[in-house]
Amino acid sequence: MADTHRESKNAQLRAAVYARLSETYDAAESVPTQLANADRHAERRGWRVVARFKDDGYSAFKEIKRDDFVNLIDAIERDEIDVVIIRDVDRLTRNLPDWSRFEKAAIEHRVLLSAYAGGDLDLSTPEGAYYGGMETLRAKRESAVKSVRVREAHDRIARSGKPSGGGPRWFGYTRVYANPEETSKRKRVILREDINPVEADALRDAAERVLRGEAVGSIIREWTARGIRPSRARKWDESSLVRTLRSAHLAGLREWHGKKYPAQWPAILDVETHERLVRLFSDPSRRAHVVGRKRHLLSGIARCGKCGGPLYPYKARTGKSATYRCVTGPAGKGCGGISVNQEILDEYVTGAVLDALESPRVQQAVRAGQDTGAPRRAELLEEIRRAQDKRADARRDWAEDVIDKDDWLDIKQRTEARIAKARKEYDKLTGSATVFGDIPASDMVRDAWEDWNTDRRRAAVKAVLNRVIVNPAPNRSFGIRDRDLILRAVRDRSEFDWRF
Ligand SMILES: [Zn+2]
Repeated sequence: MADTHRESKNAQLRAAVYARLSETYDAAESVPTQLANADRHAERRGWRVVARFKDDGYSAFKEIKRDDFVNLIDAIERDEIDVVIIRDVDRLTRNLPDWSRFEKAAIEHRVLLSAYAGGDLDLSTPEGAYYGGMETLRAKRESAVKSVRVREAHDRIARSGKPSGGGPRWFGYTRVYANPEETSKRKRVILREDINPVEADALRDAAERVLRGEAVGSIIREWTARGIRPSRARKWDESSLVRTLRSAHLAGLREWHGKKYPAQWPAILDVETHERLVRLFSDPSRRAHVVGRKRHLLSGIARCGKCGGPLYPYKARTGKSATYRCVTGPAGKGCGGISVNQEILDEYVTGAVLDALESPRVQQAVRAGQDTGAPRRAELLEEIRRAQDKRADARRDWAEDVIDKDDWLDIKQRTEARIAKARKEYDKLTGSATVFGDIPASDMVRDAWEDWNTDRRRAAVKAVLNRVIVNPAPNRSFGIRDRDLILRAVRDRSEFDWRF
């Protein structure tokens, strides 16, 4: 389709070279290679290269920049060019409006399109116009298919457990870069994620404590005091610590579209602990115990002797002592019939709990309880895993039309019922067994208690005590000012419901 007439008329045509970055990063098609090939092409044909245009960068939106494409059209419109050399017609553009602009300018100014890997195209002929338009459409379709492939590639990356790359550093890990000297964060290449020993220890400790019922806020206060900071923000808040604790990457798992895949980086928490944290924070009633909780030693542990409801701390007005009381009305479902001096009840219960914790018999019972539960917990975990696998298999079978939808729903329901049942028993065993994982030896209990914050003390109380029932005060105890007398009255009113 070469315009031999024009070639013979002008001794030498003025050629413009246009090169565009390949989306496939193919070295054989790099912009410098395209320019060099186009130059050789011009030489063979006896054309003089008067301009070179190249689009070899990306815009902010990950589209290839088209600045020089616009300059190319301007040059055509200024009649500075007779022929445009490209690698392939589809290299020019994959965008129909752009193609139309180019086509219009090329026809108006009698410009020939010459592909060094293809042939020449005279767009003023119906065949040339048709071929050029079709190639543009084909390139557009290929690009769309490619974006599907990119998505699939991301999926494969997730399944292989590789990190997705970028983003802020994960708390608990030290990021190792292939090019640490690179100052632009976007250009740094992540080589691997190493465990940061200090942060990882803090995370393991926090996970255990939160699972024992310690408040997230208490961990934050301790970390802040120790100077343990989040990787990005200036300081921790409850939601950022919850987000960190429940993140799958801490368990060496790569999360992608709701699924978790074994990852290539080391785990800080075992999968069991991770799953327990996720369940804890997903369950609103359990979450409420560790997030946004007010700290009082016996709130909820002390119970109303009249109605059995929990006693809640009641802030003292000036000149009055703080109390725990049964709350009635919109704030609580209790009878409102019990009120007891907070400080004195705390003191009395603390003494009794410490006595119990020092007792070799109780210590033995606590530790024994831990050991006996362990084999059953392992069994339950195995059961949960088997049911999860079965459910995943069935889901895949359904997706691949091996089983029909009714079968899938049936299996889903059965496996989920099994999982729920096993989890319930597991949590029950875990609740009492790990509560005192770090119980100190008998002679150390009182010293340890002094160092503990309210949450750890609560965990210790709950390890040995189901509840303290506070009965109504006899009328004669009203108005007593003497501390010993109040203590004796509180003692007379309280019943301990021991675990052992
Ligand atoms: Zn009550």
